[in-house]
Amino acid sequence: MSKRILITGAAGFLGSHLCDRFIKEGYKVTGMDNLITGSLSNLEELFREANFDFYNHDISKFVHVPGELDYILHFASPASPDDYLKMPIQTLKVGSLGTHNLLGLARVKNARILIASTSEVYGDPLEHPQREEYWGNVNPVGPRGVYDEAKRFQEAITMAYHTYHNVETRIVRIFNTYGPRMRLNDGRVLPNFMYQALMGQDLTIYGDGSQTRSFCYVDDLIEGIYGLLLSDYVQPVNLGNPSEISILDFAQEIIQITGSKSELIYKDLPVNDPKQRKPDISRARKILGWEPQVDRKQGLTRTLAYFKEIMKEEIKGNFA
Ligand code: UDP
Repeated sequence: MSKRILITGAAGFLGSHLCDRFIKEGYKVTGMDNLITGSLSNLEELFREANFDFYNHDISKFVHVPGELDYILHFASPASPDDYLKMPIQTLKVGSLGTHNLLGLARVKNARILIASTSEVYGDPLEHPQREEYWGNVNPVGPRGVYDEAKRFQEAITMAYHTYHNVETRIVRIFNTYGPRMRLNDGRVLPNFMYQALMGQDLTIYGDGSQTRSFCYVDDLIEGIYGLLLSDYVQPVNLGNPSEISILDFAQEIIQITGSKSELIYKDLPVNDPKQRKPDISRARKILGWEPQVDRKQGLTRTLAYFKEIMKEEIKGNFA
């Protein structure tokens, strides 16, 4: 009998890749999404699979799933700063009420639940690189607080369900991840730069571009999440690619890889934008034997092919 897994945020960037992976591994996959940032086009292939079904549901409301469940992956949430600034209340609700509902579901189904947390729990970090032991530097009432604090609450309630109700829980702290199926207009740096480069528009650098990020290719992340779910490790685990780059250098890489003639334009730095971010992945290495395999050049090449495909009407003629 194949195992059954519920994946929330199934129509999103990471959720849809997770659905693919678990279908490939022979699981029965039930996807759930309210489609406020996700898109059914990410699930097109999966709807042909007998082992896949889908609920259009907002998990901030009571969640009912008939039948048995072995695993739950909780990946529902706006995740781009632009999105969560536009939807602050939904972001808070899905991280808090939504997580509570899913933990309750895990408890009655006797299912193991893995929660998608984030490097944002470290806020604008004063420790570099970020280890899981670091408690973070978050402004609760700043614009990013709606996401950061929801995710911090999510970790707290997940640990409480583990401790008080013996629910089997896992927590992954996800650092910047990129790849096919990122939404073109989600406002994050990679889709913005790819779009601008392919359209021959100036790339928008927020601030002076000296802030850093560390970008992980989606396949590597999915591999790590798969390993963590099946591990017996309960404490949070960072997953990300430690290769750190400034946003300015990242813009140059995108211009180079696309062969674009775009130039740079400078805009205001968003409030509380973290100055640096790089995961310490010693724990993932030790517990999961996990290591990112795809470097930025390979990852960006694959991602570019995706953006060229979805933008093929708009960029006709730009790249003869
Ligand atoms: N950024 C930028 N130009 C853009 C979009 C983002 O310079 O068009 C910067 C942003 O200020 C941040 C970094 O790129 O320092 C990564 O932003 P993103 O929105 O991808 O996610 P974050 O890592 O901040 O959550």
